[in-house]
This record gives sequence, structure tokens and C-alpha cells, in this order.
Amino acid sequence: MFVFVFPVDTHVHRIYRRLGVASADADHEEVRAALENQVPAEKCGFGHTATIQFGREYCTARKPACLEDPDACPMGDVCDQVGVYPETGEVIDPADAID
Ligand code: SF4
Repeated sequence: MFVFVFPVDTHVHRIYRRLGVASADADHEEVRAALENQVPAEKCGFGHTATIQFGREYCTARKPACLEDPDACPMGDVCDQVGVYPETGEVIDPADAID
């Protein structure tokens, strides 16, 4: 029997907390659990690969696409932008965005 997992590296950890899929202060295991709860097991591998590509093209660590143009990211209409502040140009770790 195969066990499917959604690997959570630093990019996956950042992106799904920014999006609001996982809580802002979730650790890697909590993000993995949130994803595996919502993504069909057979899609986890593709989901991981697609997320890495998305992180390279749009939701980069220091300069996410939405920072200068709110319409530049295809996920803009569903994203909480946790830790991303286009008004000031500031980008912080989502965990640091908690009041
Ligand atoms: S809207 Fe911004 S923070 Fe949200 S996924 Fe897109 S680039 Fe990342």
C-alpha cells in the first residue's frame, strides 16, 4: 500500500500560510495536515510540484507578484495575503503578521 503525502518545504510552507489555507503560525506538519485534508491523495505529488512552480513564478519569498500589481497573481481573488502589504511594500513571514 502506498502512502501519499504532500511534501512541505519552505516554499509550500510560505505560500499556503499566505493564502490562508493554513493558519499563519502553522508549522510544517500543520500545513501538511491542512493540505492532505483538502487535496485528494493521488493529487498531492502534482500539487507539490505545481506549488513549487507557482512559488517561482508568482509567490516568491521576497517579492510576490501582488506586491506591485494586485492583478498580477492568478490567486489574488482568493488569497488572504497574510504578511504581504502592497500599501507599504512590506513582506514578512505570516507568523510575524499575527497581532
Ligand atoms: S496574491 Fe500575493 S501573496 Fe497571494 S498567492 Fe498571489 S503572490 Fe502570493
